[in-house]
Amino acid sequence: MTQHDPQPLSKETLSLEHYWMPFTANRQFKAKPRLLSKAKGVYYQDTAGRPILDGTAGLWCCNAGHSREEIINAVSHQIREMDFAPSFQMGHPLIFQLAQRLSQISPKGLNKVFFTNSGSEAVDSALKVALNFHRANGEASRTRFIGRELGYHGVGFGGISVGGIPANRKSFSAQLLQGVDHLPHTLDIETNAFCRGLPESGIEKADALENIILLQGAENIAAVIVEPLAGSAGVILPPKGYLERLRQITKKHGILLIFDEVITGFGRIGDAFASQRWNVIPDMITTAKGLTNGTVPMGAVLIDDHIYDICMNAPKDTIELFHGYTYSGHPVAAAAALASLNIYQNEQLFQSSKQLENYFENAIHSLKGLSNVIDIRNFGLVGAIQFSPSQAGIGKRAFSIFEECFNRGSLVRVTADTIALSPPLIIEKEQIDQLINTLSDAIVSAD
Ligand code: PMP
Repeated sequence: MTQHDPQPLSKETLSLEHYWMPFTANRQFKAKPRLLSKAKGVYYQDTAGRPILDGTAGLWCCNAGHSREEIINAVSHQIREMDFAPSFQMGHPLIFQLAQRLSQISPKGLNKVFFTNSGSEAVDSALKVALNFHRANGEASRTRFIGRELGYHGVGFGGISVGGIPANRKSFSAQLLQGVDHLPHTLDIETNAFCRGLPESGIEKADALENIILLQGAENIAAVIVEPLAGSAGVILPPKGYLERLRQITKKHGILLIFDEVITGFGRIGDAFASQRWNVIPDMITTAKGLTNGTVPMGAVLIDDHIYDICMNAPKDTIELFHGYTYSGHPVAAAAALASLNIYQNEQLFQSSKQLENYFENAIHSLKGLSNVIDIRNFGLVGAIQFSPSQAGIGKRAFSIFEECFNRGSLVRVTADTIALSPPLIIEKEQIDQLINTLSDAIVSAD
């Protein structure tokens, strides 16, 4: 593999000045841009025509691989048939069909679906559904939320309030949602470093919930929201028994449990949802990304029948949930989602990804022992390698490894001192080897 620096584009052909890039050090990037122009299967191609192996399924979303013909056809057909339909006081058959399909693969009882355009909107919608439900249920005092340290729940004001990544709030001096507490995170490198799969130790971290309930009063708490597996903060796994305990405690106190499965939905860890893999059923699931295989923006909240039924008891002729988006249930997104679900089902992708888990686990753990690697975590087709911070500062080492991987033709994800992998579920063993070899070379060269 040859070392290759991306070519700066000439000012005449493309100006980089006008686009304010999200979650990106714009000045650094624009000095040395990485630009992707094509994608097919498990490969991107950059503007210099080099293939880039996609080790991240885009941003954890292109689970069936890129530019699938079935989705392309469904989307272009739908735009020709009907490009848009008003989402309020109006419907179209495709979106009812999609909600029904989702209820067939969702965990037991979560048969109602509210559509959004992103994971962030799904999170804010779920929080509002929780408040709406408690009000309709005669418990309007339940307005507090409990999130978790290092949790990522998108960038809406609701999401950054229940989220627990300080950087997501720091620059905004924002008035956040009032009345939010945070559970401790479950990352414990000292005890669980290099464990394969779920850590044995740490179930007691869930008991902090009882302390918060004692302090704030169960009658004031609407919901607990956590990612079953936290992706954005660097792949943080739930210790064995932890999610079950959260479920027991929330149930005992009449508090709703929301799993944010924006990353873990649609086969990432071997079942349609992490809730099924770990056999813990929450009251709501937020999801997005893999729902349309990353092609057209769409998010959703999967909601327990009981919540919906209580909300439907609202006085006659009122709108039961006064909330929605212009693009809720967009017909083009619905077409993309149905085509994606067909691929997942026809190719049995969730099941087949399970057969790769062991191979992936062994491959990623082969990086143990390389310099500065202080932890490796994995479950399903998600993995992370954590590095000790370099003297240059937090995240610098991992960022240079990320850059080096890109130069060597592989896309990985970097957050702080961690490199995360979440390849498309259609990846093959040789491509896993390619990804891990590139990473290994990049780690060695960054030393
Ligand atoms: N929740 C989780 C768990 C996520 O990982 C993300 C995005 N990575 C979001 C919410 C936000 O989704 P979006 O970027 O689509 O708003």
